[in-house]
Amino acid sequence: MSNSTSDEHGHDHPKHELSHHAKRIYAIRALLVEKGVITEKDIQCQIEYQEARSPANGAKLVARAWVDPAFKARFIADPKAACAEMGIDATAINEFVVLENTERLRHMVVCTLCSCYPRPILGRPPDWYKSFNYRQRSVIDPRGVMSEFGLDLANDIEVRVHDSTADIRYIVLPRRPKGTEGWSETDLAKLVTRDSMIGVMDPLPAIPE
Ligand code: FE
Repeated sequence: MSNSTSDEHGHDHPKHELSHHAKRIYAIRALLVEKGVITEKDIQCQIEYQEARSPANGAKLVARAWVDPAFKARFIADPKAACAEMGIDATAINEFVVLENTERLRHMVVCTLCSCYPRPILGRPPDWYKSFNYRQRSVIDPRGVMSEFGLDLANDIEVRVHDSTADIRYIVLPRRPKGTEGWSETDLAKLVTRDSMIGVMDPLPAIPE
């Protein structure tokens, strides 16, 4: 076998070749550290900060909005302040907009240009969100895309597609699932999926179907 190395256990591992871009990143990183611009610790802290941002943040916000109408009003009126109230740092977002789904109206979020996404609230975007297919088809046929995710909408429900940019990021506030009266915020948050906050799906049902 070519392009492989044997280790002491006697089996072969393929050689991992870094891409051009990865090599460049590592070279820049080494230079920045060598010149004292940043430290290895800074890099590690930043990685940990980035990894700590996940859809759990968004789920906490949605669950609170479901149980607390005053919070919901603040969340819609001033999303970044509401995030701060919940200990979620949304300051990296320039303009943050909450889109509330209703019985008659559904919102769906895309970035047609690239992959703009509310990362402080939802973490890293899924691969499909960044795909050319989703970016193109979500604006042409949002209902078709939703139905591929498993969500079939009645014809009389309006769908609005929102195009994210470097300046403006969106989160969908989905409707609270039926049968969750009296549920705790923690239990409600478990129903709030990433995809329901992008708007392509509903939250999980109270009773698994
Ligand atoms: Fe983008």
